[in-house]
Amino acid sequence: MPESRLDPRITAQWARVRGLMRSEVGDASYRSWLKPLTLIGVDAGEVRVAVPTRFMRDWVVSHYGDRLRALWVAENSDVVSLDVVVEAPRTKPVVRQIGAVRNQAPVAPAMKQKIVENETKTDLTGISGPLDPRFVFENFVVGKPNELAYAAARRIADSESAPFNPLFLYGGVGLGKTHLMHAIAHHTRQKFPDRRVVYLSAEKFMYHFIRALRFQDTVAFKERFRSVDLLMIDDVQFINGKESTQEEFFHTFNDLVDNNRQLVISADKSPSDLEGMEERLRSRLGWGLVADIHATTFELRLGIMDAKADRLGVAIPPEVKEFLAHRITSNVRELEGALNRVVAHATLVGREISLETCQDVLHDVLRANDRRVTIEEIQKKVAEHFNIRIADMHSARRARAIARPRQVAMYLAKQLTSRSLPEIGRKFGGRDHTTVMHAVKKVEELRQTDATFCEDVDLLRRMLEG
Ligand code: ADP
Ligand code: MG
Repeated sequence: MPESRLDPRITAQWARVRGLMRSEVGDASYRSWLKPLTLIGVDAGEVRVAVPTRFMRDWVVSHYGDRLRALWVAENSDVVSLDVVVEAPRTKPVVRQIGAVRNQAPVAPAMKQKIVENETKTDLTGISGPLDPRFVFENFVVGKPNELAYAAARRIADSESAPFNPLFLYGGVGLGKTHLMHAIAHHTRQKFPDRRVVYLSAEKFMYHFIRALRFQDTVAFKERFRSVDLLMIDDVQFINGKESTQEEFFHTFNDLVDNNRQLVISADKSPSDLEGMEERLRSRLGWGLVADIHATTFELRLGIMDAKADRLGVAIPPEVKEFLAHRITSNVRELEGALNRVVAHATLVGREISLETCQDVLHDVLRANDRRVTIEEIQKKVAEHFNIRIADMHSARRARAIARPRQVAMYLAKQLTSRSLPEIGRKFGGRDHTTVMHAVKKVEELRQTDATFCEDVDLLRRMLEG
């Protein structure tokens, strides 16, 4: 029963009980635990209140049960007991942070806003996948590693023709490919409501495609897709299979491009590295613009932390943001998950976010991100790679052929171990921490400007990690 249909005297008593609880437990705890309570009614001396989850019920009963009952008794002498029941919320939202902690998932499902189904026109209903409303351009943080992909995505979303066809986005997991594709869809739908946009996973695309093949209906299939202005297929590394299927796919693909339909494709590898895919198709996929999203840099991770904290509306001390950006390097998804957990935890226990709580809450994630590479191993591998002596890692020689590899080793030591700058400096012949800092900066700069150098460093990194 909605609270509004209760006896007004009871509602007033409930309001007073809540008010008193609020002043007793403080705003943060009140918001997390008591505000979500719904009064069901008072019957035969028993007050019944509902909470959205079992976890909350247990918490409320054990932490606030006695006090709630006592306050009720003081308000209403008929009351003898209190019953807290679990009832899925209808209109009342579950407090988000609670779901996040309870699930302990990298991206807590409850933190995700409801995914909206989109409304595509005509016979394409049901083909386009759901779009995440958070995946818009405004929420995408741009940095060196993703600026090309971002610019290309924006260009497509802003134009009615097909500026480059296809756009092929590739990069490792959790680096923002799906985010960009959804952003293109959101933006296009808003800016050009008449343009028909379809976004779907490669698996789903193949499912429709293979069905069409089976029912010898590929003409209709092509027709159907030809009515789309902007077609986005996510994760095409999953498209492989029989040659005849690929052949048909190839023709459909060409057909769409010939008809000036914009295609956006994503994958975790570059077109030429896609395995199990016919050469002709691979090369065709690379005809338009190929934009890869590189691994995140510290700056980008920090930017994402800032943006995310703003959006959550919580104050997070700069040292916590820096700590997370330094330590959670795997991908953006994990970084977001870690931040969500820290925030959820702080809200629940009503404590400020600090470096200690952060380390505490995230010990498992931090351990997973803590690679067990030693500085010695890094020095050895880097020396081998650049063909210098290991002793030169410690030596005072400053010739570029020696100094550059040494800087690379320092950079990798910073990236791959949890050693501090002074500790790293000591391992490199007792150098100062500012030397290490300079090396890290230098390597980051070179990585942006020198593609071969960048590849070298990435190769070394992969070797050391693997
Ligand atoms: P992919 O499809 O490449 O595996 P996603 O697009 O699903 O990765 O991104 C994983 C998560 O990280 C999403 O929640 C996304 O919003 C977030 N994300 C990735 N890159 C960025 C970025 N540059 N700025 C903000 N959020 C990002
Ligand atoms: Mg994805």
